[in-house]
Amino acid sequence: MKKKQFKSESKRLLDLMINSIYTNNDIFLRELISNASDALDKLYYRSLTDKKIKVKKENLKIKIETDNNNRILTITDNGIGMTKDELEENLGTIAKSGSLSFKEMNDSKKIDIIGQFGVGFYSAFMVSKKIEVISKTIESDKAYKWTSDGIDGYEIEETEYNNNGTKIILHIKEDTDDVKYSEYLEEYKLRELIKKYSDYISYPIVMEVTKYNEKEETKELETINSMVPLWKKNKKNIKEEEYDNFYQDKFYDFEKPLKVIHTSAEGLCSYKAILFIPSHEPYDFYSKDYEKGLSLYSNGVLIMDKCSELLPDYLAFIKGVVDTEDISLNISREMLQQTKSLRLIAKNIENKILKELESMLKEDQEKYKKFYEKFGIQLKFGVYNNYGMDKDKLKDLLLFYSSKKKDLITLKEYVENIKENQDNIYYVSGETIDKIDTLPQTEQLKEKDYDILYLTDYIDEFVMNTLREYDGKKFVNISNEELDLEDEQEKQRIEKFNEENKEMLDFIKESLDVEEVKFTNKLKKHPVCLKSKGDISTKMEQVINALPNNEKVKAKTILEINENHKIVKKLQKLYKENKEELIKYAKILYSEARLIEGLPIENPTELSNLICDAIAN
Ligand code: ADP
Ligand code: MG
Repeated sequence: MKKKQFKSESKRLLDLMINSIYTNNDIFLRELISNASDALDKLYYRSLTDKKIKVKKENLKIKIETDNNNRILTITDNGIGMTKDELEENLGTIAKSGSLSFKEMNDSKKIDIIGQFGVGFYSAFMVSKKIEVISKTIESDKAYKWTSDGIDGYEIEETEYNNNGTKIILHIKEDTDDVKYSEYLEEYKLRELIKKYSDYISYPIVMEVTKYNEKEETKELETINSMVPLWKKNKKNIKEEEYDNFYQDKFYDFEKPLKVIHTSAEGLCSYKAILFIPSHEPYDFYSKDYEKGLSLYSNGVLIMDKCSELLPDYLAFIKGVVDTEDISLNISREMLQQTKSLRLIAKNIENKILKELESMLKEDQEKYKKFYEKFGIQLKFGVYNNYGMDKDKLKDLLLFYSSKKKDLITLKEYVENIKENQDNIYYVSGETIDKIDTLPQTEQLKEKDYDILYLTDYIDEFVMNTLREYDGKKFVNISNEELDLEDEQEKQRIEKFNEENKEMLDFIKESLDVEEVKFTNKLKKHPVCLKSKGDISTKMEQVINALPNNEKVKAKTILEINENHKIVKKLQKLYKENKEELIKYAKILYSEARLIEGLPIENPTELSNLICDAIAN
């Protein structure tokens, strides 16, 4: 019999596949099982319209068999089957492939698209030296066999086969130093691949498996796939436990998820999804190996384990699955990124998660706080990231500690309880709530009964700078010298006092590493405090300078001295009588202010000597 040649397109494709670096041989099984499932679907639907065809749905199945001695793997379905012409048409040609021209147009060595290539049936040649396809349609009593080694073309001949459907016989390649093709004859490997890629195929995938009971080894047929994907089931019939088990199994978490979001959409884009908010950070979340993304399925078949395009960075902790018919199985990663439906789905999912968080905040504060404790910093990161592009959708999900309520509040709550004529939202940052609470800068505001937000995350001040304002109220750092709370008269009085002491204050400034030294009337008990001028606060200076490879910055610091404190008289006296001594005291006061602020002391030895001198005097 004369061998037929593959159409040229197929030939090139085969060549390309077989000579590419095989990064993912595994997908061949997924492709053959998907084809089998399609064939079962087709037969079933024909039986619905054609009375002559009688099919019982429960009899439709896909069978996987191995013959290790002969290195044969068989995939059999009792589906629609193929006529001789169909064998020729479907397996002798391949539709023009967008992925193929993509790869040809670009440097094929550099772009590794074979993994997502999904060239269907032909992918089986990655692991087979020869393939036989035996097929018979339900109406015909003749069966045909298609045979090919994938290089020289194919043959079709009549054969004996009594069932309708298709049997794909793969003659598995010999092992090489690099690839152990024998794996594809092993039960554990096949089970793993079916579970991973084809778990939600809606027909049973049965395989003969070895069972051990009481020293005896038996062979039994077992259905490997779970068939109905959880996300396709009716929500009403799913128990919480099922979601939890699904999550823990699939995402390897010992703990239950904090929140399950089972959702679907139809219309512009259609998909079904189950999303999970974990109850703690994924174990490798803060390592650079962590990959964000959702598992992407096309009609029950896994396309990609972690599709990162489906989640914005600030939701990188979300786990879940998305199943859509809008994206075809045979799509390369490069093409996927350009798919409009994928972007639509991603937008949809982002909005859905934010909405769920909003209602959790409204309806279950305790739960939201638990969430916020773990992932609040991610939301803050989202506000700050991308030049604040997402800040408006995130600002109402932020929580900060309120000095008045002594608990976390939203910005909305702050503004709802704002004092009459108060135009600013006050905040201050520090290491811990307790430490912030004793900061001198808070004294005046507390006395005037203003609420202050206490910030303890390193990113907080950057968030405030990005937000700038909330509901028309400006964010004001009370460590910033521009704070303006008293009436004109008071202001003029302290200005005058500073003017009168200008010479002394300038003299002190010269001996310290600060931008300015001045008296203040805002402190109550504390003798001194630090303020900063301009955009960079002392806290931000610390954060920015701790970043690797970042240009060092310096906050403009102001040392403020309490005009009502008893030290003032002493300073004035020393300025007249003993300037050297004055410098020493000024240094001690400055160090004191830094300590209160939680800032490091540059020269502890000098400070301790200064204090000893003062004691000895
Ligand atoms: P695709 O599935 O994307 O169409 P494939 O290369 O996987 O491409 O398969 C090519 C064609 O071969 C299918 O469209 C189908 O018509 C036919 N085919 C493959 N496997 C089977 C099967 N098990 N039963 C019936 N037809 C099949
Ligand atoms: Mg296919």
